[in-house]
Amino acid sequence: MGENLTKSIVCPNCGECVPIVLHTGIQGDISAEEKEKILQETFFSWKCPACGCISQLLYPCLYSDRRYGYMLYFLPPGASFPQWEEASEQEKVRKRIVSSPEEFREKILIFENGLDDRAVELVKYAMVQVLSRQSGVEIRSGVYLESDPEKDRMDFLFLPEGSEKALRRTTKFTMYEKVREVARQFAPAETGFLRMDQKAAAQIMERYARG
Ligand SMILES: [Zn+2]
Repeated sequence: MGENLTKSIVCPNCGECVPIVLHTGIQGDISAEEKEKILQETFFSWKCPACGCISQLLYPCLYSDRRYGYMLYFLPPGASFPQWEEASEQEKVRKRIVSSPEEFREKILIFENGLDDRAVELVKYAMVQVLSRQSGVEIRSGVYLESDPEKDRMDFLFLPEGSEKALRRTTKFTMYEKVREVARQFAPAETGFLRMDQKAAAQIMERYARG
């Protein structure tokens, strides 16, 4: 935890070989600076000290926060999940694999808002169906933004295929509360690190439809 790893990388712009510090273990309750960068989606931005060019460098790292009881493993696309011994006493800890800076940020927000990410994905899944039917275009991605149970709202941002303009959409918080039971009954068991994304939400809905 709170681990750093120093490596040398070759700048894709100028070809200079420079050392870089990778934060491979982050504790959300301690590493405020790193956490803020993840929330700003600048955590993986790297500035070359030789030429000043900024590029994105995705690398595996483990993020945990004991206050909220969750762990996120950031696994870049194409990388494989490492083999490690999992301590069984950590069963109460929710463990997720995330693969994009947007998803990394989204999961932190969801867990810090005290929400069940499985149910949030189900709400998002339903909204994507409605939105693509209404607009006639595929929805490329969607992310949770915020919620307010008192005002009965939950906000998401959706990105339609072939567009750079994100659409903000609001639904009722009570919808989330309704699908939470579906998530509890039909989501896969919490064993080890899971991906809980739109693909997983589709699988939960299939299981639910079969009964
Ligand atoms: Zn450079």
